[in-house]
Amino acid sequence: VDPPKVEEKLGAVPHGLSTDSDVVKTNKDIFLRELISNASDALDKIRFLSLTDKEVLGEGDDTKLEIQIKLDKENKILTIRNRGVGMTKEDLIKNLGTIAKSGTSVIASQHPRTGGDLNLIGQFGVGFYSVYLIADYAEVISKHNDEKQYVWESKADGAFAISEDTYNEPLGRGTEIRLHLRDEAGDKEVNVEVPAEDDDSSDDEEKPESTDGEEKEDEDSDKDEDEEKPKTKTIKETTYEWERLNDVKAIWLRSPKDVTEEEYMKFYHSLAKDFGEEKPMAWSHFNAEGDVEFKAVLFVPPKAPTDLYKNYYTANRSNLKLYVRRVFISDEFDDLLPNYLLFLLGLVDSDTLPLNVSREMLQQHDSLKTIKKKLIRKALDMIRKLAEEDPDESHDHKDKKAEVEESEENDEKRGQYTKFWKEFGKSIKLGIIEDSTNRNRLAKLLRFETTKSDGKLTSLDQYISRMKSGQKDTRNSKMFQRRVLKLRKDSQDKEIKESFKELTKWWKETLASENVDDVKISNRLADTPCVVVTNKYGWSANMERIMRSQTL
Ligand code: ADP
Ligand code: MG
Repeated sequence: VDPPKVEEKLGAVPHGLSTDSDVVKTNKDIFLRELISNASDALDKIRFLSLTDKEVLGEGDDTKLEIQIKLDKENKILTIRNRGVGMTKEDLIKNLGTIAKSGTSVIASQHPRTGGDLNLIGQFGVGFYSVYLIADYAEVISKHNDEKQYVWESKADGAFAISEDTYNEPLGRGTEIRLHLRDEAGDKEVNVEVPAEDDDSSDDEEKPESTDGEEKEDEDSDKDEDEEKPKTKTIKETTYEWERLNDVKAIWLRSPKDVTEEEYMKFYHSLAKDFGEEKPMAWSHFNAEGDVEFKAVLFVPPKAPTDLYKNYYTANRSNLKLYVRRVFISDEFDDLLPNYLLFLLGLVDSDTLPLNVSREMLQQHDSLKTIKKKLIRKALDMIRKLAEEDPDESHDHKDKKAEVEESEENDEKRGQYTKFWKEFGKSIKLGIIEDSTNRNRLAKLLRFETTKSDGKLTSLDQYISRMKSGQKDTRNSKMFQRRVLKLRKDSQDKEIKESFKELTKWWKETLASENVDDVKISNRLADTPCVVVTNKYGWSANMERIMRSQTL
């Protein structure tokens, strides 16, 4: 659904949401996403306020930061409630009465601690009004700490009404949204699961039969309510239980071994705002300790977005949410990942970053550099594992590594790296250009088609190990050959170092008393077997001479 046009935003309540179009019909579950996102925003806001003032949370059930849902199938009423910040009468008018206002941004700017950057995501979605895709009448009951409980109601017919709520159950704090579902909004389309109905609730069956007036008077005050109900209605009441929607503890705070694959999928889909079936290609969930502490979950999405490389250097496309001590800060932090890794989705929650500074200052914070460095390492590890776990990847070494198991799990992983390479290979190549620190790690992730690979992809390592000595002709460019030579040289250097390890150790031990810092294999010597050089940070020979002449 396109966001409402500006003209529509100016009306008191939009008329423009047509429920007839196919677009709308196929997008009915949008409203649920919007309501959950609003409820979650409202919970974030009260939690944020509670950081400086514990009192705002109240006591008892009010302290529980929950989102609950229930579906009354019989009366076709879907209710979602939360114990979030709630709305005052004015909020109800401003936020729901005028679509142009986004209360989220107003609240945020009132709180300088975030630099005006609380959750602004919903701003560009269809928002609250998506409820009229499935409801013809909606009631919003809300209780804000500063005010009485109010009810806002509208049939999306261009008008709304607000009144003090003297008849519903008091909420304590928060917002309850009651949607009176349209006829065509069948249960399946709403796609909400409710717990099995409580069929043996004996009260219900007795009531219709109780015809004796005297008996009624003897019973307690519950009866008053019954009398108000139309007599003609068959009373077969069913109790509908509240179901908690946000019951799982934020998964990134849990230990990875306690989180199920299904939970990761759910979490991924909530981040991706994509409720399809497709699984992410990989994920990595870790807890970084040390000077900078943070928890993070990273996902490789199943597909690259079509515009991934459009305006590559200028577009802000960060898909990482940043939290500081469980408080959502931003999802527009470009500095958490380098450009070439911006295809990743995920979340970072740090205990080290300060909460009480503006976003601009946060962006400068030293810890961010460390976080970024670790995130890159973990991301590259995750990608490397995708390759390692892929049975197709070892085709060149198959005879040597006969132990590659032909299990079902392996079948599932077969070809996963080729798939990754097709979607994100360009990002890895860009990484090679941009990230000199991780160039070697990235080089290992490169894949090429070669003359021998018949359409299959080959890594540099495999290519080099297969290359006949003296092979001159490669299918790829000169740059590629240089790269191969460099890698070859690196591995030769490593071999040499290894074979002289004992000798260098002996030299070092023998000369330690002579104040030699280190003994190293070097490739800068041409005619002499060894040379004494000054330490990079030490005195030069000339400086030593000067110092000596002064002490004499
Ligand atoms: P957005 O979320 O983008 O601001 P919405 O149309 O979804 O736009 O919601 C409009 C505003 O109504 C929100 O910004 C918020 O101030 C208020 N609001 C909506 N739902 C709730 C809720 N459950 N609790 C508190 N405030 C809410
Ligand atoms: Mg919203």
